[in-house]
Amino acid sequence: MEELKQLCENIKYLPASEKPLSADVILIETPDFICVYDVGSSEKARSVIENITKKKIVVLSHFHTDHTANLSRITFDELYAGKETVRYTKAGIVVNQELCLSLLRIMPIPSVHAKGSILLCYGEYAFCGDACYCAAKNGRPFYNAQLLKAQIDLLCGLEVKYLALSHKEGLLCSKEEVVCELKKIYATRNKDSSEIWLE
Ligand SMILES: [Zn+2]
Repeated sequence: MEELKQLCENIKYLPASEKPLSADVILIETPDFICVYDVGSSEKARSVIENITKKKIVVLSHFHTDHTANLSRITFDELYAGKETVRYTKAGIVVNQELCLSLLRIMPIPSVHAKGSILLCYGEYAFCGDACYCAAKNGRPFYNAQLLKAQIDLLCGLEVKYLALSHKEGLLCSKEEVVCELKKIYATRNKDSSEIWLE
């Protein structure tokens, strides 16, 4: 599959697209199964996932449709997701604490972008979906101070080098760089408000 990019020996991904809005689809190959982190919404993403012949374990980063819409159009063996996502998919195992699947670790990550966001760690990578992004109220972007602090603490404790952020060109950022950006935003909080407005 030529559209697939190779991240390292065992990881390939289909980059996100804008038209249609479809998130990156990550494929991690282990001896026993292929883990698919996010299923996207595009036909291309669907066919990449359907071409997998090995046992397929799907992990969804969060419930937004650009990450999940293909779920009803693919086959899979197991599904893991956050509570809010399972409410939407009506299928799958709820991840409410850290779980290990072979060499993969999946865990909830506090996020203002979407409740029930799930992080996946493999080797020196942590796949974050949209969890590090802000949310918006009436078109104004913001973070929630408490969730942002909890997210920074979780990211700091991860023994990975890179964070993979969905929709980002090239997918990877150094963990240090992202944590540094998030800390800068957290430093602008106002004690009287739980929201940190970016504009
Ligand atoms: Zn999202």
